[in-house]
Amino acid sequence: MSEKQQFHADVIIVGTGPGGATAARELARRGKKVLLLERGIDYRTKSYYGTYLGALVYADRLSLLFTEEGLNIVRPLMVGGATSMYCGCAAQPPAWLKDRYGVDIDTEVAETIDELQIAPLPEDLRGTASTRLAAAGQALGYAWEPQLKFMKPARSSHFECGAKCMLGCRCGAKWNAAEWVDEACHAGASLFTRAQVQRVLIDSGHAAGVEGLLAGKPFSAAAGTVILAAGGIGTPRILQASGLSQAGQGMTMDITAMVYGFIHEQGIGNEPPMTWSWENLETGYMLSTLIDPWLLFPIINALKGPRYPLYWPRWNQTLGVMIKLKDSISGGVFANGKISKPLTENDRPRLKMAEDVCRAILKEAGADPDSIFMTPLRGTHPSGTVRIGEMLGQDLQTEIPGLYVCDASTFPEALARPTVLTIIGLAKRLARSLP
Ligand SMILES: Cc1cc2nc3c(=O)[nH]c(=O)nc-3n(C[C@H](O)[C@H](O)[C@H](O)COP(=O)(O)OP(=O)(O)OC[C@H]3O[C@@H](n4cnc5c(N)ncnc54)[C@H](O)[C@@H]3O)c2cc1C
Repeated sequence: MSEKQQFHADVIIVGTGPGGATAARELARRGKKVLLLERGIDYRTKSYYGTYLGALVYADRLSLLFTEEGLNIVRPLMVGGATSMYCGCAAQPPAWLKDRYGVDIDTEVAETIDELQIAPLPEDLRGTASTRLAAAGQALGYAWEPQLKFMKPARSSHFECGAKCMLGCRCGAKWNAAEWVDEACHAGASLFTRAQVQRVLIDSGHAAGVEGLLAGKPFSAAAGTVILAAGGIGTPRILQASGLSQAGQGMTMDITAMVYGFIHEQGIGNEPPMTWSWENLETGYMLSTLIDPWLLFPIINALKGPRYPLYWPRWNQTLGVMIKLKDSISGGVFANGKISKPLTENDRPRLKMAEDVCRAILKEAGADPDSIFMTPLRGTHPSGTVRIGEMLGQDLQTEIPGLYVCDASTFPEALARPTVLTIIGLAKRLARSLP
């Protein structure tokens, strides 16, 4: 029988999404011996990166991961985590994070905005049809604004950020956390891919390392500090297997739906995703300009009913508004592998209000009123499964000294807005607070 592989580090970081990549870069630059463990691989150099085939290969269960209630979840398992498939949107952390939970990441966020030159796309790249939707929203009194982006068109020689940039960015304009994994490794961190962490090792009540499978073979790694950044689904599963059974009880998802309507002119299909948005903080939802990529459009619509995939030929004459609802904490990620995310009585009426506003905006923008429909619900931001204020202190430490969580799991409430900038802020703050 082959011996278990064993490794040592000062800090072990599990997961290479924005939480793990940021913490790894910070700590490696400070001279810490960092071991970064990622269950997926780096797909950036593969010929199918950024294609429909790629999106199937690197997303959990070929993108066919569903909650018990039928919400589809896209969960990329790869170096860079979900930023490989995100829409490149940035948003300031919600004010309540500081006001209600005492977590102040203003400095780290401002620094990140500056470093990555986060800004809206230039006016001429925001898309004619997307801008038409935003203007319709504004005409109805909703203050739509250009969306902040982790995208720099100047980085690309052939900026082509259509809806398909959600499959993975091929033109290079979009920042991906994998870049900070590269920088962490450049600063001395060790990255192991195909390293699936199963459990945290605890010795005399203190974090002592992790164990799992490396390319299918058992391994263990020792360190006095362990940071779990395996995402809103991965992190609670590791904690449950480590004896912290409260993890995964309840979750948020920023429950999402698209509302579509058809026009006679060109729609938003080939325009960069989410170039404009508007937040209704009072009711708790965000709207943005978005459509599913061409091949996914009929598949998602088929979940609504047999007649909806027939709209496929009109994909490029479609206007789309995405709803992200600030959903209540409900359901959870359970040890038996199931994920549940029921809508609550508090969620339903607010979702209906958001849908009505979308319908009004689409009509104002010239969509045929009879063509407007809302897609089935989905979950794009699995989060809030290891919440600050319940399982975590303000310093992101669990009840086990030396064991920290730094990813979307930590959100104490649904953000209902892009998550990545907040996660980066949390990770920088955590890395700087460690001895
Ligand atoms: C299609 C799509 C579009 C989006 N658009 C935006 C957007 O425009 N702006 C925005 O801010 N957010 C967006 N998001 C959400 C955002 O990308 C995620 O919320 C964010 O990446 C979460 O970061 P994280 O660090 O929590 O985890 P993740 O990015 O999910 O990273 C977790 C990593 O941990 C790894 N992992 C999991 N389990 C294990 C294990 N047991 N052992 C080792 N490794 C493990 C995974 O493979 C993964 O690489 C989008 C998401 C999707 C799916």
